[in-house]
Amino acid sequence: MLVVMQQGATDLQIQTVIDRLVSMGFTVHRSTGVLHTVLGGVGPVDEIDPVDFEVMDGVKECHRIVSPYKLASKHFKPQGTIVKIGKVEIGGTHVVTMAGPCSVESRDQIEKVAGIVAGQGAQIMRGGAFKPRSSPYSFQGMGEEGLKLMREAADRNGLLVVSEVMDHTQLPMISAYADILQIGARNMQNFNLLREAGKLRKPVLLKRGISATIEELLLAAEYIMSGGNYEVILCERGIRTFETYTRNTMDVSAIPVVKKLSHLPIVGDPSHGTGRRDQVLPMARAAVAAGADGLLVEVHPDPDHAVSDGAQTLTPPQFTEMMQQVRAIAAAVGRTA
Ligand code: PEP
Ligand code: MN
Repeated sequence: MLVVMQQGATDLQIQTVIDRLVSMGFTVHRSTGVLHTVLGGVGPVDEIDPVDFEVMDGVKECHRIVSPYKLASKHFKPQGTIVKIGKVEIGGTHVVTMAGPCSVESRDQIEKVAGIVAGQGAQIMRGGAFKPRSSPYSFQGMGEEGLKLMREAADRNGLLVVSEVMDHTQLPMISAYADILQIGARNMQNFNLLREAGKLRKPVLLKRGISATIEELLLAAEYIMSGGNYEVILCERGIRTFETYTRNTMDVSAIPVVKKLSHLPIVGDPSHGTGRRDQVLPMARAAVAAGADGLLVEVHPDPDHAVSDGAQTLTPPQFTEMMQQVRAIAAAVGRTA
């Protein structure tokens, strides 16, 4: 349930409501907005009469939330969430670019990529050190050594780092190197991993599962948030459909739907969304036009020799062109990029 406090409600009034909810068996999550504080209670909602709360001092309204996700719902934080990491804001007016190779391959490769993406205005470098590959015989990633190389290259170029966590035992180690933890499509419903990520205070980039509905994506975010980690960034990376021309079908409509249902930022991944370098640029434009708060794109100095996902990886000149076009689209929708 949600209790919306009146504008100017005092700390005492807010605390009194929290204490009452806690005494009734609720776990309370607080969202402090510019105008209103909203209290999200997770617990025995059927035993509650909202009027009992609406008559309390400082309370504006009280609702039972029927949607299965509560903390991820727009009602909990109507003003929207901005994930702030240092000077970078994800979910604000600037469309943030996260770019880099599918996999970290070598010092030389990651140093080159860092220079290229930083030079074009990306603020975050992506790169997998632990790779979820469909075949056990494919390259599985450089592991911790890859994370070290990526961190060093990122620091030299003033970039943040996002990298994938494949299971909960890797959380402490990857957290030591990365600023954002990526939970990939295959792990979107790895509930142990989601719960453990919820115990951290570190932003999580949560990618939509290959066959997950938008509601399932928001419920996966709810797992993380219910542990108290509210810094979740969602990612539309294409879903599996009957179409075979593209690797996945990039569900651009998921972006405005998520914006309507949730306060969480969402980025678009046109690389995995299409699987084809020649379709990344138009779908990057489409994602930004549809309201994405950022882009996740694969870039490599020599994509034809990349160890993974080369076909969907942009060359440096293509990345430069994408950034130029995305800036024009962002300006058309009142944003910067
Ligand atoms: C990736 O970002 O390299 C990746 C493996 O993505 P996804 O989980 O979307 O397939
Ligand atoms: Mn990839």
